[in-house]
Amino acid sequence: MSDRSRIITSALIVGLVTPLGAATAPASGSDGSQSSPVAAERGTCRTGKVALTFDDGPQPGDTGKLLRVLRRKHARATFFVQGYRVRAHPKLIRKITRAGHRIGNHTWNHPDLTGLSKRQIRSQIVRTNRAIRAAGGPRPTLVRPPYGATNDRVAGVVKQLRMHEVLWTVDTHNWSGGSVDAIVHRALSAIRPGDNIILMHDGVATSGRTVKAVPRIIRGIRKRGYCVAP
Ligand code: ZN
Repeated sequence: MSDRSRIITSALIVGLVTPLGAATAPASGSDGSQSSPVAAERGTCRTGKVALTFDDGPQPGDTGKLLRVLRRKHARATFFVQGYRVRAHPKLIRKITRAGHRIGNHTWNHPDLTGLSKRQIRSQIVRTNRAIRAAGGPRPTLVRPPYGATNDRVAGVVKQLRMHEVLWTVDTHNWSGGSVDAIVHRALSAIRPGDNIILMHDGVATSGRTVKAVPRIIRGIRKRGYCVAP
């Protein structure tokens, strides 16, 4: 338990102090960021911060819908993507990056990393980083191990690659069914003063419900005095 919370905490700190420009440089580019989502959040973090994270994508259709919802709410998120999907849909990586969101590494094809050798773990992560770069994204600094499954070997490889593991503090179980109300309730009832990381999924069968839940989650987060931080 303490190992787990240490990982969450250290990753969060890294996530929060890493200069945003590194991961989201295109946001300040020519496509006009006059209504910067970050600026919209300033001064609203009195209770804490909430990072919205979407795993497993990108996926045509679903990812675009999520991006539209996030844009409407001026909220930035982190997308933990799978390498094989990035290779299949590189344009979506550019779309996510251009919108000012952060891209994280969710391995090539979602194995339980704790069952793999060092060499295999490294390959899962490095191949995915290369696919993200080849698609026009920034080099990711964050890794989310599938299923949140990690051990010393996984942590060692991630560290060698000068990356950081990020788990989560709130699981919406949005992949396993449940209504929009249930997803919203799970998210909002579990956030606590301080730093929070909400786990959701992109490109899963229930993505339609997630897209409906996200604006309500963002509204609820802000109403409670938290801000949405990527
Ligand atoms: Zn996943």
